[in-house]
Amino acid sequence: MGSGSGELHATQTACHPLSRVGSMLYPVCSMSANTTELTSTQREELIATAKRAYEHAYVPYSNFRVGAAILLENGQVFSGCNVENASFGLTNCAERTAIFTAVSALGAKQVRIRAVAVVNDRDVACSPCGACRQVMSEFGASADVFYLGPKGIQHSSMRELLPNCFGSESLA
Ligand SMILES: [Zn+2]
Repeated sequence: MGSGSGELHATQTACHPLSRVGSMLYPVCSMSANTTELTSTQREELIATAKRAYEHAYVPYSNFRVGAAILLENGQVFSGCNVENASFGLTNCAERTAIFTAVSALGAKQVRIRAVAVVNDRDVACSPCGACRQVMSEFGASADVFYLGPKGIQHSSMRELLPNCFGSESLA
């Protein structure tokens, strides 16, 4: 369970400003992701990408903007925002938007999540909801998750967030 505090690898990031409308299906950047623990640079860049993502949030009802970024094991980064709906129940969270965007762009076989970052524009504690934890688990059962806790960015493993979860092995 890495906290991300051990910066053993000075991994270069190749991120650039978030691509604008029309290019959201492409990864917003790529990082080296084949180490066992994220470097602080990777973590900070993932959080920064999540912050940029909430600029596109569609939140006419709550005005609560959430952004998420996922780092895949292949180093690609995808982002997403929350998209609300007048029916409320059909609202899609930022985490799931990012994951579905990656699946749409790459195909599910390429989507193996190494880490997730989730932030909001109010800087209030906000961990991934149950629905997002289930979807994150599908593509990243061992992912590291960074989100806003009561004292700032908090780290949890996916296994901590969703122990004994339902998975594909249950259907075998
Ligand atoms: Zn959610």
